[in-house]
Amino acid sequence: MNKIELAKIKQKALEAHIPIIMDDTLAVIKEELTKSKPSKILEIGTAVGYSAICFTEFLTDGGSIDTIEREADRVIEARENIIKAEVQDKINIIEGDAVEILPTLPGEYDVVFIDASKGKYPFFLKESLRMLAPKGIIFADNVLYKGYVLSDYNKHKQRTAVRNLREFLSELQSNEMLETKVLEVGDGLAIAKKKN
Ligand code: SAH
Ligand code: MG
Repeated sequence: MNKIELAKIKQKALEAHIPIIMDDTLAVIKEELTKSKPSKILEIGTAVGYSAICFTEFLTDGGSIDTIEREADRVIEARENIIKAEVQDKINIIEGDAVEILPTLPGEYDVVFIDASKGKYPFFLKESLRMLAPKGIIFADNVLYKGYVLSDYNKHKQRTAVRNLREFLSELQSNEMLETKVLEVGDGLAIAKKKN
């Protein structure tokens, strides 16, 4: 991977206010990926490819990442970025709405990173669980949504997102197949490990 290009991609995304993964969140995921050495990763929410490019470093030889993005402009930029970062052979960008794409994917995935529309997290979870390999890990970003999720705040225009994030977290925490932690890094990161 070309780290100089990666730094430029990050800088440009930050300047354009694209909500790329925060450094502290990325650090936690990197630590987990170092231990788990995934071969297949699924990402829901590519944006301009920054997080996917970062994850390529932790793939086993011959491993790959499928990543889904619905905004056409972002798909174009992500395709350019993976070439600049020299990881185009490791990342497959799928253009479309994850709500439609996910049911068409067969799996399995060792890691799923959920980082797209918060109102859809319960659906993304259902599809992720269907495709998750034994001992697989689900990471979900933005699960605390600026603190709204753990507060009694419910008058916000984003209340559907908050309600769905709460439902998502309670499904994760009540699922006996999973060992789940919710960390207050970045905008909230859930890590759910499939026990077997
Ligand atoms: N993972 C990226 C950031 C993703 S930002 C990184 O850290 O670098 C979230 C992205 O998800 C946005 O680009 C948005 O267009 C996309 N998105 C939101 N809902 C989606 C959906 N239902 N299907 C596909 N993409 C979606
Ligand atoms: Mg995010």
